[in-house]
Amino acid sequence: MPRAAPLARLRRFAGLALLVPGLLGAAESPPRAAPSRPGAPATEKTPATRPPIRRIGRVEHVALADAARALGLAFTAGDQGRRATLKGPGVSAVFEAESREATLNGLRLFLGEPVALAGGVLSLSRADFERAVAPVLRPGFGLEPRPAPKVIVLDAGHGGNDPGRVNASLKVNEKTLTLDVARRARRLLEADGFKVVLTRESDTFIALPQRAAAANLVQADAFVSIHFNALPQDARTSGVEVYTFPPRGLRSTNSWSPGAKEDAEHHASPVHRVDGWSALLAHTLHGRLVGDLKAPDRGRKLMHLAVLRPLQAPGVLVECGFLTSEAEARRIATPAYRQELAAALAAGIRDYARAVEAARRPPRAAPSSR
Ligand SMILES: [Zn+2]
Repeated sequence: MPRAAPLARLRRFAGLALLVPGLLGAAESPPRAAPSRPGAPATEKTPATRPPIRRIGRVEHVALADAARALGLAFTAGDQGRRATLKGPGVSAVFEAESREATLNGLRLFLGEPVALAGGVLSLSRADFERAVAPVLRPGFGLEPRPAPKVIVLDAGHGGNDPGRVNASLKVNEKTLTLDVARRARRLLEADGFKVVLTRESDTFIALPQRAAAANLVQADAFVSIHFNALPQDARTSGVEVYTFPPRGLRSTNSWSPGAKEDAEHHASPVHRVDGWSALLAHTLHGRLVGDLKAPDRGRKLMHLAVLRPLQAPGVLVECGFLTSEAEARRIATPAYRQELAAALAAGIRDYARAVEAARRPPRAAPSSR
């Protein structure tokens, strides 16, 4: 993680917070600025493809049954109304009352707000629905179409006087490993016809916002920042994590105290314009890292990362494995595994490009919402 030392400890408590929903605090998010349908009551006639917005406290929500209908998916409730499953051809999602953790196409997703249970109705925050969930279950749903991806920017984390994570016994450091994986992924993507730009080609220090600026300069269609993880005094935890910048008003996954510095930010950041596409890119990368590498799934998460904030293109940060895990670090230290990692990243980017192109084709007949 870049510049996240104080968060490393918080991260260890995030799992605890999920087990004790009360720790997550009340959903104290003010209404989003200028929503396209401000405070629309559930009874208002809504277009077939947009679910009605329900206000719970100060947060706009979408009932999961309405969300399913809007997306053309089947809805089933279970566990005495505390669990909702949305299912369609090739896609599925499972949500639990009062939990920030959901399952999307078999992958762990951390929501910005816990799933609400009010009046017997399970609801997702509108921001989570529109910007994290719907874009994956039905790519392009409610989003501005994107051009077919051609320019991919790969960001090798750290560099120069910032080595990133280090495994002293294996004599490897993060900055060298990330550059190696970025170079390998570049070769694979170039063979597919993508134009690939690396934010650094050598062992040099580049400030985080400059990395995003470089992507903006070449008008990137996708930005992937490559990192390796570490947990001090923990040689067993392994697996992959995928991060996107939290949609406006949503908290970081590691934030569970209402007063914490990492709480929701309410000002607009450039990358917010492409939240939904970032979610889709994160999901396709996540699926390949977990599926192709058989790596433990530590989830798709939200974090206010300086390297993503200024982006004008969809952007994701991937934590490709733990240098503190004895077994995983030994694998990461081999060129063969780094080639597999690069292949998984390239495949995830290809999957994303295909989904973007599919979303540009004329839409299927919209499912009826009533
Ligand atoms: Zn890092």
